[in-house]
Parts: sequence; C-alpha cells; structure tokens
Amino acid sequence: MKLDSQTCVVTGSSRGIGKGIATELASHGANVVVNYRNSEREAYDVVDEIEADGGTAIAVQADVTEEDEVEAMVGRVRNAFGPTDVLVNNAGITVDKKFDNMTREDWDAVMDVNLGGVYNCTNAFFDDLKAADHGRLINISSVVGQQGNYGQANYAATKSGLFGFTRTIALELADTETTANCVSPGFVQTDMLDKVPERVQNKILERIPLDRFAEVDDVACIVRFLASEDSSYMTGQVFGVNGGMEW
Ligand code: NAP
Repeated sequence: MKLDSQTCVVTGSSRGIGKGIATELASHGANVVVNYRNSEREAYDVVDEIEADGGTAIAVQADVTEEDEVEAMVGRVRNAFGPTDVLVNNAGITVDKKFDNMTREDWDAVMDVNLGGVYNCTNAFFDDLKAADHGRLINISSVVGQQGNYGQANYAATKSGLFGFTRTIALELADTETTANCVSPGFVQTDMLDKVPERVQNKILERIPLDRFAEVDDVACIVRFLASEDSSYMTGQVFGVNGGMEW
C-alpha cells in the first residue's frame, strides 16, 4: 500500500476531520498516531476502529499549545514507531464573535491552538520530517482563511496565516525530499459545524455550488494523496476542498 510503514501523526484526531484522516491513512498502511487533548475515550475508539480494520495506531494525549506535552509526544511516537514521516497539523478551534464583542482572550485562545499549536508541533517533529525519505507537512486551513467569514476574525486570521507559513516552510525545505502543503476545506460536517446556528448553516449552503456540506472523507482522501509519494512534485500549495465555493 502507498503508505506502508510510514509514521503519520495527526493532531486532533479523536473526532471530526482528524479522525477521518487518521483512519484513511491507516487503511493505506500507515502507522498512525491519534493525538487528542481531552477526548480520551473517543481517541481510543479511533485506535480500536483502526485495529479492527487490520491497521496500526496508538493514541497520544498532548495539548498542542503546551510545548512540553508536544515534546513528550515526540518521544512516545519514536518509541512506538520510530521517526515521523508525515505530520498533519489538524487540531483547531473556533471562538466565534463579531469583532465588536471579541476580547483579547477570545483572540489569543484561537491563536494559541490554530497557530501556536502548529508552531509547537512543526518545531518538535521538524528534524524527523527533514530527514524522512518522503517527509510531508500537511496543514489543515479553511476556506474561511481565503474568504473571511462573519464572526470569525480570529479564526480567519489563523487560517490565512497558515498559507504564508506553509509556503515559507516549503521554500525552506526545497533542498530536501520533504514537502509542505495546505488543505483548505470548505464547510465540513463535524462538531465544529454543528456549533453554527441552523439559520447561518442554511445561508452558507446557498453559497456552495455542489449544494452540500463536505463529509470528512472528502478531505481525508486529499490528505492521503498528499501524504503519499505520488505528490512529490507538489509543494507550497493550497488545495481547496470546498464544493466549488469561489474565493
Ligand atoms: P472538531 O470536530 O471540533 O475536532 C477538533 C479536534 O481537535 C478534536 O480532536 C480535538 O481534541 C482537537 N483539539 C482541539 N484543541 C486541541 C489542542 N489544544 N490540542 C490537541 N488537540 C486539540 O473540529 P473539525 O471540524 O474536525 O476541524 C478540524 C480542523 O479542520 C480544524 O483545524 C478546523 O479549523 C479545520 N476545518 C474545519 C472545517 C469544518 O467545517 N468543520 C472547515 C474547514 C477547516 P479533543 O476533543 O480532545 O479536544
């Protein structure tokens, strides 16, 4: 299989898009690390699901905002599977408010996870990724980083930030076998979207030419392709998975 014995770390993969990515990578032969912050039972359920399907995975608790927890995760991964080949920076949160009402705490909370967590994880796994035969850094951004979205100034800023970050890392890695890319989903059916009021969800649907929200699998299969050797000539790119939403 395309990802045989590749070590793939997926941050925030106890639920939602991360869970979909973890199971997809495992089903193509990867050794998968299911990272979570609080959802222990869900994370172990993902591992059970992968193992029941014949795959290999471990669950590792680490809050991506805490450098020491991320460093400890690197050690756990090396002990279990050796060096990391693929890092998927997926963990992300929203704290939605109109900018008028957005406090500095609301701003910082989203920055800390969506960009600070990406710094911590990329930094901690960077030596492994650079040394890998086909290293892959894959950052999960959002169409909101491209278009902006009412009530999401903090979230949009972090998701736009990932474009510049990814492009820069891609340039700095260009003399290695390792690539860096962004996947930019539209609106995906997960707990994150469930928090959006139905009235707003209906307005969003009107803007999606394919007339449906994405399933996690729509995103996971693109990540699986980017994680594989087949994507070797693609780096520094943003891959939209958004049902045709313009931006
Ligand atoms: P979700 O269902 O809310 O799941 C979030 C995941 O991130 C959970 O596994 C959660 O773990 C983990 N997480 C949150 N904070 C963390 C932290 N500090 N440390 C470690 N893990 C943490 O979200 P989702 O919808 O799947 O979104 C996943 C990614 O896709 C995010 O980056 C999001 O911005 C992006 N995205 C989502 C959509 C969408 O419409 N859903 C669209 C575009 C992009 P715990 O449960 O343990 O806290």
